[in-house]
Formats: sequence, C-alpha cells, structure tokens
Amino acid sequence: HVSLYLVPTPIGNLKDITLRAIETLKSVDVILAEDTRTSGMLLKHLEINKPLQSYHIFNEHKTVEKLVDRMKKGEVIALVSDAGTPGISDPGFLLVRAAKEAGLEVNCLPGPTAFVPALVNSGLPNDRFTFEGFLPHKKGRKTRLEELSTESRTMVFYESPHRLMKTLEQFAEVFGPSRMASVSRELSKMFEENVRGTLDELVEYYQHHPIKGEIVLVVEGRGKTGRSREEED
Ligand code: SAM
Repeated sequence: HVSLYLVPTPIGNLKDITLRAIETLKSVDVILAEDTRTSGMLLKHLEINKPLQSYHIFNEHKTVEKLVDRMKKGEVIALVSDAGTPGISDPGFLLVRAAKEAGLEVNCLPGPTAFVPALVNSGLPNDRFTFEGFLPHKKGRKTRLEELSTESRTMVFYESPHRLMKTLEQFAEVFGPSRMASVSRELSKMFEENVRGTLDELVEYYQHHPIKGEIVLVVEGRGKTGRSREEED
C-alpha cells in the first residue's frame, strides 16, 4: 500500500503529463503543492477535483511530522511541484526521508524534469555526469566553483536568466574559455532553444542575445591534461 506518491508535472508543455500521473492524482486523498494556484490551474485543465494543500520549503520541516502521522492513519498523499519532478531542486526530500523512516511506502513516478533533456541535447558526454542544481548565489559560491574546477564529469546547473551572463563569465575563468558548454532555455515550450559552444563563444553570443525564460546550463568536464575532453579527442 503506497502512502506517498511523488508526481512529476510538465516543465512547460502541458502534453508532457503522463497517463499514470493523471490516474494517480485522481486516486489520492489530498494533493500537496508548492503553489496551490499554479497546481490548481493544472488540475483544472486535467479536470481533477481534489483537495489541495500548500507545501513549501519554508514550512517543510514543521509540516513533515504531521503529514507522516496522517499517512500512518491511512491517508494517501501526492506531492507535486510547480514544474517537473518534486524533490529535484524543489521540496520533497525531507518528506520522502521521513515517510521511509516511518516505514511507509513511497512511489515516485517517472516523468518530466528539466535536466535530462538539457543534458542529452547538449551533445556532451553523458555516460557520467553530476547534477549541481543551483549554485550558491554568494556564500560558498567560490568554494563550490573551485571544487568543480577539477571535475571530469559533465556538469549540469540550473540558472536564472538574469544571472546567466555572470555565471558564464565566471565559468570561463574557472574552467577556461575553450571548455564546451550548452545553454538550454524554455525546454518543451514554444521558444525552446539549445545553444552549444565554448564558454567564450556563449559569453559572446549572450552579449548580443539577451536571454529570457528558464535555463539549464551544461558544462563539459575537465580532461586528463586539464584541457576539455573535446579538445583532447
Ligand atoms: N523540479 C524541477 C525539475 O524537475 O527540473 C526543477 C525546479 S527548479 C525550482 C526550477 C529550475 O529548473 C529553473 O530555474 C530552470 O533552471 C529549470 N527549468 C525548469 N523548467 C525549465 C524549462 N522548461 N526549460 C529550461 N529550464 C527549466
């Protein structure tokens, strides 16, 4: 008996909801959402009428215990985020851990998430990669970048449009200007764009093409000689 479902929702294109996601959302007792307005719109579109309750990072710790108690009593809960897979750069981890520790069964449905299409579309090696999510904005940013300077796997980052230029420039400094990278924006949406080039080329490109929308940044790892893996090939 599953107590908690994590249900991925579209990252742009509403057709990306799975049949099983719809079925699951229809079957549960309550749906927990990061933003009840955003998820309310999706549920309305899918003609699903279920109680929605808000669940976000700043009340996550406090809420978890109560939710586990409710699930222990038999309530079946689905967690969704504003977009993509819950728990991926979104709330979810604490609830999953608490549910598991309480011996409850958790089921995470496969479905939309932004980093997979960005990684595969980058044309950079994806046999091994590291998901970095959002870099720290201030505190800890330099340390993290230094740690990553020797990373040999392809690296995947989430980034906001107004910080992209600064991040690309910093990456060119830390990883070297000829390191290959790829910027994916508005995945699955009308204005989806995937631009691939060296970090220098991307800095140049985005100086002339101010970027809007949601972004995933993929950067090639370091080669054995310190050059990019592409250069070594
Ligand atoms: N849970 C989501 C997932 O599974 O990908 C991620 C949530 S995180 C708060 C939001 C970030 O994901 C955005 O800032 C952007 O970096 C990335 N993202 C989400 N949707 C995207 C899209 N359609 N195109 C490009 N990046 C997207």
